[in-house]
Amino acid sequence: MNKLRVLSNRSCDGCVKCCEGWLEGDVRGHKMSSGKPCFYLSSNSLGCAEYDDRPKDPCRDYRCVWLEDETFPDELKPNASGILVTKRQTFLPGDVGMQRADYYEVKSASSSISPDAWDSVLSWLKSKQFHVVVVDSAQG
Ligand code: SF4
Ligand code: SF4
Repeated sequence: MNKLRVLSNRSCDGCVKCCEGWLEGDVRGHKMSSGKPCFYLSSNSLGCAEYDDRPKDPCRDYRCVWLEDETFPDELKPNASGILVTKRQTFLPGDVGMQRADYYEVKSASSSISPDAWDSVLSWLKSKQFHVVVVDSAQG
């Protein structure tokens, strides 16, 4: 999970896309995975039932790209666009052993995403030329 700054002009208000089961995670022993929302996510749209006591990992540490990167289009907030982008890290073999590599994980977090939203995400990703892109399909 990322621990980068949050932009002062952007907030999670109104969005729970990272809790809805589009990401893999474990919250106090409750698994969250594709098609399986967080155990603590209220089913009546009230959001997180444990918000004040939510754990650091993954809840407080997680930042989607919309929240942490001011170059990412403002109109693509995950609850509005249905697209959830996360900056991840991995290690790849390099000239001097294993080297850290950043990449972007792209999840379609809605069954209906506008072509314009995809175009905006792809344009933005192209501007990050050296990253690997992983595109995930929507939940069935
Ligand atoms: S998906 Fe991003 S904006 Fe939405 S609640 Fe999670 S971190 Fe906040
Ligand atoms: S505990 Fe709350 S903030 Fe954490 S994933 Fe579950 S619903 Fe989201």
